[in-house]
Amino acid sequence: MIRGAVTIGFLHPGQWQACFANSLNEMMFYDATTSNRIVGNPDHRFGLLGNEATATQIPAGRNKLARVVLDESESEWLFIVDADMGFAPDTVDRLIATADRYTRPVVGGLAFAHKSDGSGPFFARRYRAVPTLYRMWETDDEVGFVQNMYISQTNVCEIPSTVASCPTGAIRGDMKNKSVAVNEEKCMYCGNCYTVCPSMPIADPDNDGISIWVGGKVSNARSAPMFSKLAIPFLPNNPPRWPEVVHAVKNIIEVYATHARKHERIGEWINRVGWERFFSLTGIPFTDQHIDDFDLATETFRTSAQFKWR
Ligand code: SF4
Repeated sequence: MIRGAVTIGFLHPGQWQACFANSLNEMMFYDATTSNRIVGNPDHRFGLLGNEATATQIPAGRNKLARVVLDESESEWLFIVDADMGFAPDTVDRLIATADRYTRPVVGGLAFAHKSDGSGPFFARRYRAVPTLYRMWETDDEVGFVQNMYISQTNVCEIPSTVASCPTGAIRGDMKNKSVAVNEEKCMYCGNCYTVCPSMPIADPDNDGISIWVGGKVSNARSAPMFSKLAIPFLPNNPPRWPEVVHAVKNIIEVYATHARKHERIGEWINRVGWERFFSLTGIPFTDQHIDDFDLATETFRTSAQFKWR
């Protein structure tokens, strides 16, 4: 990956709007003479990625752009833009300046559309710029989205739903500042509020980590449901591509695919060969965090998320 490199990804219906073509030209010239995020590095093969798509192909087309950037390109960032938009030459630099690989890996620029504002004098039609932001709208007999005509930078999340998202009641409304306040002592860092409101400041880039659990299943087919058990206690949380996690999961899946019987699930395979063998086959270090409490192991062996060494 080339740090700071950007792919410009866009879909078009077979033609570009003039405002888009001119903006793209200006952005390329600007980039070539300043930051070289898009052009200028010979190892950066995917500076521009444009695909033709109809309106119904837009979600699949955008997923495809993201897949190419993640799997094949050297880019750190993907800037998706519509082929009927105009934008400033330094848009990419400004977006990246507000992004953070841990706390804000996805950022967006506010776009404005020209909407008809009725008739003006001399039979002319008036237009005005409105932000392309929407909110849910529900009446007794209608449900849908309406355009947010007025926006402010500090008003991006709904306060009541953010407060309601906290299972420990740690979030309270701060009406004076039109925001919320978090009681640190009550917060258990479950992350629920973050899913409702990405502005909630709970990410910790230094100490966040990922653990890998294997063998769990809900289904009763062939054998009883099983708990997942801890395989790897801690891996660095390293977006946007999580190389350590990808490597660990690939290793487990490849060892499982090599040694399991046909149709055998991963938990069934581990139970058959034994957890000791699972650790030796996968080469995963065995640590004290994996071990069930020795005194009570006979009682908790089947229900603990750890396991008992035989
Ligand atoms: S992370 Fe803290 S504040 Fe957020 S929902 Fe969980 S307990 Fe509440």
